[in-house]
Amino acid sequence: MRDILPPESDRWRAFVSVFAETVEAAGYGNLATPLMEDAGVFSRVGEATDIVQKEMYRFTDNGGRDVALRPEFTASICRAFVEHRPSTPWKVWTSGSNFRYERPQRGRYRQFDQVDIEVVGSDDPLVDVEVIALGWRFLERLGLRQVTLLLNSLGDTAERATYVDALRTYFEANLDALSAQSRETLARNPLRVLDSKREQDAPFTAAAPTIAEFYGADSGAHFETVRAGLDRLGIPYTIAPGLVRGLDYYVRTTFEFAGGTLDSAQNALGGGGRYDGLVEALGGPPTAAIGFALGVDRTLIACDDESVFAAPDSAVDVFVVDTTGGLEALVITEELRRAGLRADRAFDNRSMKSQMKAADRSGALYAVIIGETERDAGTATLRPLRGEGEQVVVPRAEVVATVTAATGG
Ligand code: AMP
Repeated sequence: MRDILPPESDRWRAFVSVFAETVEAAGYGNLATPLMEDAGVFSRVGEATDIVQKEMYRFTDNGGRDVALRPEFTASICRAFVEHRPSTPWKVWTSGSNFRYERPQRGRYRQFDQVDIEVVGSDDPLVDVEVIALGWRFLERLGLRQVTLLLNSLGDTAERATYVDALRTYFEANLDALSAQSRETLARNPLRVLDSKREQDAPFTAAAPTIAEFYGADSGAHFETVRAGLDRLGIPYTIAPGLVRGLDYYVRTTFEFAGGTLDSAQNALGGGGRYDGLVEALGGPPTAAIGFALGVDRTLIACDDESVFAAPDSAVDVFVVDTTGGLEALVITEELRRAGLRADRAFDNRSMKSQMKAADRSGALYAVIIGETERDAGTATLRPLRGEGEQVVVPRAEVVATVTAATGG
């Protein structure tokens, strides 16, 4: 778990703002769910996943309840849907921290942030296209260019189950040649063996049966429409038959945004898919749904690698230097701030030299200086700190107007 200090924290906030602008322009409303839920919300939907089985921060609270910090958003969002029954399609976005007890490394932390959208209550394949396209356009807006969209369909629930059986039979026939980790994964979830990045497993994952052999007419047509929609929008994608994603509730469309600059074990900036059975598993009516989550931590690492989406300029407009005791600075910064300017000042009655240094460090365009002379004459000196320009002395009453004009306000 990490501290995020300014100015990096400003960048995080800007990231979420750009995401909010992107998806709110498409009709998604902001949803806030609790950081902690009844552990059953997560365990009911992810029995066979490491995220739920091994990585949850799960504990008994003072009231004896079995609770967990959320390891992801989707289950909470479905729980909220079941509880509030909003009209459908329910288009929502959310952001915030999730918790998983993983082995920390670059791009993998125990507390990490995600931005997320979900559409609950429609199985229209064009919803899949909208959701995927919003993720793609958002990454474009950040300036990222080295991103690959990986696309797959896992078929419907029955097809997926038949496929899982076929995979189990296939991998069991090759059991002795698989890595120990994959043998263990096989016992829990044969699909996840396809995710193995170990060389020893590569020949077997490459030759494994593919889900496409198991599509029925409906899921085949659904996937075709998704692809046609992405084609129409000019969004490039790579069909990835091995893309199963980490949570075992996905059916039909699954997708991932892979960052081109990251290590392959941690290269997913985000991803998602359809989870048409999840609302029902949480006690609601049969309801189709799709969404994705993007990791903020990891996507910002990709931004660093591609030198895009720098921290926004958080400098103040003006810095007030007061060597007469500090009360003048108190009043002038207040006036400047009320006029809508970003204004800072020095404290502790420092020397002129030390305050001017602080003014410089603040990134301000102008310093307003009050010394004994200015105080006695009822004036202030306005000194440009960046670029050309002469300093001027203005009547005290004109400080705000002059700074406003000078900063283009
Ligand atoms: P998931 O919820 O597992 O589908 O993950 C979606 C995205 O969240 C990933 O592609 C990562 O960007 C991010 N993510 C997941 N787990 C972590 C983690 N432990 N640390 C940092 N980012 C993570």
